Amino acid sequence: MEYLSNYIDGVLKAPAGQAYLNNVNPATGAVYSQVPDSDGQDVEAAVAAADGAFEAWATTPARERSRLLLRLADLIEENLEALAHDESVDTGKPVALARTVDIPRAAANLRFFATAILHDAQETHATGYTALNYTLRRPLGVVACISPWNLPLYLFTWKIAPALATGNCVVGKPSEVTPLTAFRLAELCLKAELPPGALNIIHGTGPKAGASLTTHPAVKAISFTGGTRTGASIARNAAPLFKKLSLELGGKNPNIIFADCRYEEMLETTLRSSFSNQGQICLCGSRIFVERPLYDRFRADFTARTAALSVGDPLLETSDLGAVVSEAHLDKILSYIDLAREEGGTVLCGGQRVQLEGRCRNGSFVAPTVIDGLDAYCRTNQEEIFGPVVTLMPFDTEEEALTWANSTPYGLAATLWTENLTRAHRIADRLQAGVVWINCWMLRDLRTPFGGVKQSGIGREGGFEALRFFTDTKNVCLKLQ
Ligand code: NDP
Repeated sequence: MEYLSNYIDGVLKAPAGQAYLNNVNPATGAVYSQVPDSDGQDVEAAVAAADGAFEAWATTPARERSRLLLRLADLIEENLEALAHDESVDTGKPVALARTVDIPRAAANLRFFATAILHDAQETHATGYTALNYTLRRPLGVVACISPWNLPLYLFTWKIAPALATGNCVVGKPSEVTPLTAFRLAELCLKAELPPGALNIIHGTGPKAGASLTTHPAVKAISFTGGTRTGASIARNAAPLFKKLSLELGGKNPNIIFADCRYEEMLETTLRSSFSNQGQICLCGSRIFVERPLYDRFRADFTARTAALSVGDPLLETSDLGAVVSEAHLDKILSYIDLAREEGGTVLCGGQRVQLEGRCRNGSFVAPTVIDGLDAYCRTNQEEIFGPVVTLMPFDTEEEALTWANSTPYGLAATLWTENLTRAHRIADRLQAGVVWINCWMLRDLRTPFGGVKQSGIGREGGFEALRFFTDTKNVCLKLQ
C-alpha cells in the first residue's frame, strides 16, 4: 500500500500527527493508498516554508521562474501515460479522457503562464507634462490554492501556475478524495529542482487542513474551486482577514437548442457536454432546452445515443463513462434521480446503478440518465447534481428559454445552438453566465476570462485575470517639473 506524503520546503514529509486517510479506487471499491490527514501543524510548517521562500522566489527573474515551470510541464508530458493511469485510478474517469484532456491540459496550464509572464507589460498614465504615473505589479506573498476532485491535476495546475509565475509562494491543497496526481507533481517538482518552499502541497480534509489554511493570517489570497457551500464558508472566514478571494463554484448549466441548429454536430457535442467525465465537470450542461419543433426528434435520437454509451472499467479504452468519484457521490446522484421521479419526471434511459462484473464488481457506476416531463423550477432542475443526469424540456419562444435558463441561483456556463447569429448574440448578452458557448462546448482558449456569476462564484481565472489576481498594483507618481 502506497503512503502519500505532504510536500513541504522541498521535502516529501509524513504528516506531523502520523494520521492517514484511506484513498479508494472508485472503480473497484478497494483502498489502494493512504493519504496524509494533515492538521494545523502541517499547515503551519507549509506556510512558514512558503513565507521563508517568498523573498527569493519573488525576486527570481521571470525568465528563470518561466524556465522552471516549463521544465515541470516537460516532466508532466514525459510522464503522461503514468499520470493518466493514476488520474483514472484515483477518480474513476476513463483513462482515455485523462490521457487526452486532464494531463495534457495540466502541462498546457504551466506552459501558458510560464510564457505569459515573459510578455508582461505595465501601464503608465502621463498627467500632461506634470507627472508620470506608472503601475507596478507585485506578487502577494503566500497564497492558498484549493482544488476539487473532478479534474484533479488539471485544476490544481490551473491555480498554481499563475500564482508561481507571478512570484508568489504557494500552499496547495488538493481534494483528499483525489490526491494522487498532486503527490506525483510534488515528485516531479523535486526532479525539476523547483526551489524549496516555492510550492508546498498539503493533503487532508477540507474542514481540517483546508480550514486551517484559509484562516492562516500569513495567507494573503485564496484561489478556490469547489462547491458553493464550501465557497461560502471560506468567504465567511476570509472576509474579516481581508484576504483576496477567487471562488469558482457550482453550476446548473443550461443548453439551449434551436430548431435551426446544425443537428448532427449539436447532437454529438450535447452527448459530450452532458456525460463527459460522468457529468462531473462544472461546465457540463445539465438542463437541455429544445425548441418544440425539434423536441421529439431530439429526444428520440439523444436517448438512443445515450443508451448506447458504454459504462465500464475506466482502464479499458472502450469505456465511454467510468465510475463516479465515490460511493457517497453515487448515493447523492441516485437520490436526485429518485427526486426527479417524485417530482413527476419520466426517466427515458438510465436511472440506476450499473453493476459490472469482475475487477469492477464493487465499483461506483451510474448509467447515463435522461429525464423529461419536469418543469424548470422543480428541485431537480434548480439544484446541482454533478453526475451523468440531464433533463430535457421543450420551449416555444426565445423569451421562455431565456427565462428558464436564468432561473437557477447559479450562473457558470451556458451553451447555445442556432444558425441565427443575430439571435445568438442577443441571447448570449442576456444569459446570466460567465461563459457562453455558441455552437460548441468546452472550446477553451486559456487567455479568456473564466468564472461564474451569482452563486457560481466571484472573480475570474485565466489569462490576465489570473495574473492580476495573484498580484497587487502599486501606482508610482513621479512629478516631472
Ligand atoms: P468541495 O467544496 O467539497 O471541495 C473542494 C475543495 O475544498 C477540496 O479540496 C476540499 O477538501 C476543500 N474543502 C472542503 N471544505 C473546506 C473548508 N471548510 N475549508 C477549506 N477547504 C475546504 O467540492 P468538491 O471537491 O465536492 O467538488 C465538486 C464541486 O466543485 C461542484 O460543486 C462543482 O460544481 C465545483 N466545481 C466548480 C468549478 C468551477 O470552475 N466553477 C470547476 C470544477 C468543480 P476535501 O475534498 O479534501 O474535503
